[in-house]
Formats: sequence, C-alpha cells, structure tokens
Amino acid sequence: MPQRETMAENVSVSVRIRPLNQREKDSDQKEAWRVFQGINIVPSDNNPRPGTTPFAFDHVFDGPCETKDIYDRCAKSIMTSALEGQNGTIFVYGQTSSGKTHTMQGTEESPGIVPLGIKYIFDEIKKRTAHVDFLVRCSYVEIYNENITDLLNPKNTSLKLHTNAKGGCFVGGVTEPVIAVAAQAKELIEKGMANRSVGETKMNSESSRSHSLLRMVIESRNKSDSSGAVRIAELNLVDLAGSERQSHTQATGTRLKEGANINKSLLTLSNVIAKLSEGAAGQHIPYRDSKLTRVLERALGGNSRTSIICTGLLSLSLASAPSLLPLLSLSLPVYPQPRSCP
Ligand code: ADP
Ligand code: MG
Repeated sequence: MPQRETMAENVSVSVRIRPLNQREKDSDQKEAWRVFQGINIVPSDNNPRPGTTPFAFDHVFDGPCETKDIYDRCAKSIMTSALEGQNGTIFVYGQTSSGKTHTMQGTEESPGIVPLGIKYIFDEIKKRTAHVDFLVRCSYVEIYNENITDLLNPKNTSLKLHTNAKGGCFVGGVTEPVIAVAAQAKELIEKGMANRSVGETKMNSESSRSHSLLRMVIESRNKSDSSGAVRIAELNLVDLAGSERQSHTQATGTRLKEGANINKSLLTLSNVIAKLSEGAAGQHIPYRDSKLTRVLERALGGNSRTSIICTGLLSLSLASAPSLLPLLSLSLPVYPQPRSCP
C-alpha cells in the first residue's frame, strides 16, 4: 500500500471524508472509498475501478471522527510554532458541503480547528506570560470574486493589497483589533461569520462562494532578552470556497463568473503549493496570480508551515472529484515510512 513521502517537511496534505448524510443514504448513494491504515484511500467494493491506484496522504480521517483528532494531528503543532515565531497556514479545501466549515468552525458539541486553536493559543499565552510578552492581533477577511471584504467591517468591500518595504504583501485598512482573551476572539469570529457571502447553487443552498481568511498576528518577546527582539508570526486559518466544477453546479451569469474566479484562485493555490513542495531554490512561484496567494505569500513561503486538509464526499468517485484532484499530485510518490504532520 502506498505511503506518502516527505515532499517538503513543512507541507502536509491530509484528507477527511465525511460520512454519508441522511439525504445521501435515502437516495441510495454508496460509499465509493474506504480508508486503509489511516493514510491510504482505496476504491471500495462499491466502486470497482480496475487499475485504480490507491492514494496516500499524511493522514486520512473517515467516518464519525471528531475534529479534535484532526486538530491534534494536523493543526496543533502549527499553532505552537506560531507562538514561537514561525508563520503557519491551515487550509480546508474541498467541494461545497464536503465539510470544510464543519472542520474549520465546527459546532458547540464538536468544535472545529478555529475554536480549538484559539483556546489553545490563549491558554499557552497565559502559561508563558511569566517569561514572554505576547501581543495578538486578529483580522478576518473574505475574498469573493477577487475582491477583498473586511468581515469585521463589511462596508469595507474593496480592500487593497499593498507591498511593504521588505516586499511583503499586506491588506491595507483592514480592521485588526488587539485580542487579549479567547472570548474576544470568539466574538470577533462570530461577527465575521455572520457577514460571509453565501449564494445558491444546485450543490448546496447555503454554499460558500468565497474564501475566508482568519489571520492572527502573534508578536512575542522574551522578557529576559535585553535586546528587546520581537518575533512576529502570522497564523492563517483559511476556509476555501467550494471547488466544484461548473458543469456540476449548472451555474450561469454571476455564479459562472464566481466559479471561474474560484477555480482560478484554487488552481493558483495548488500551483504555488506544488512549487513550494518541490523546494527548488530560486524558481518562480506564481503568488501574484491570485489575491488569495498574494495575501498568503509571506505565510506560505520561506520558513513557514502549511497543513492542507482536503474534505471529501464518501460517495464521490475520487478520480472525478475536482476537490481533490490538484492535491492528489502532491500525495504521491510512494515511499516506505509515513510521517507525522509538520
Ligand atoms: P462546506 O463548508 O464544505 O460547504 P459544511 O461544513 O457546511 O460543508 O458541511 C455540510 C453539512 O454536512 C453540514 O450540515 C455539516 O454539519 C455536515 N458535516 C460535514 N462534515 C461532517 C462530518 N465529518 N460529520 C458529520 N457531519 C458533517
Ligand atoms: Mg462552508
């Protein structure tokens, strides 16, 4: 059975396959995939595809698993690194209704990566405060049709990207309050989520057609360091727009234009991640081809860590699932030892 080789130590690709929901069961949809050894996806007996290659990832989660397991294996160490000054980005990537928002935000009963991460970060800050001073700022934006809206001030619909003296890209005029406790962050996220754009497609009546980007900038300074050196890390938690194909959604007009922009930015994102994974120094990385990758340039390149969690539908044929295709190329080739998430 294939096992995924380290492409780059700092990029991990995992898959979460959600269980069939009642509607899918009622319409007699069958499970097309099964998970093997926690890192492989193989066609199930319902999906006999001669010659289909099993796919290998860093982790594969299926069935009624809790998001806490995914958080522990794919996200928590990135939060720890951010507290220590290293940039990090966590994406959820998949088609509409595959469980991206469920994985990122979750519910009261089964909290997602965002609330789990925020609780952890502020608990850690409290533990470390005798030795380290922290300052956390938080912003929440949406990229819809290549347009950036401030989710904390939705009248701000056309935020511009600027380049600073060091060549880094930042969102001009974004609301970015200092956050002192987890409850404040939770309130800010609830406010932002209520402002997200949703539109109707045939895939899902509440489908998210935008990328949402929650960014925490964590500044830290060791109290014992007389030079006063400040570490600055960006932690990005990104709930991507649905990755379905136009032909699946029967979109027209505005929806079709949205779809083209979404697909372009997802394609750019996978191109950027593929190039970063190759790790070849000095090669051109196409950050500038989409707003999303421009905003994330500093956090994806250089000394940073990235975890991509692809959410998938159990009933879909994986080979035809556009949600996973660009990332399948990252999941091979095959080597002997699995590895842990960065
Ligand atoms: P997306 O954000 O990808 O469009 P959602 O996260 O909104 O999809 O999920 C669609 C529906 O499926 C929601 O009702 C959600 O609660 C449910 N769901 C998604 N993933 C799971 C899961 N792993 N277990 C149980 N229910 C899930
Ligand atoms: Mg969603």
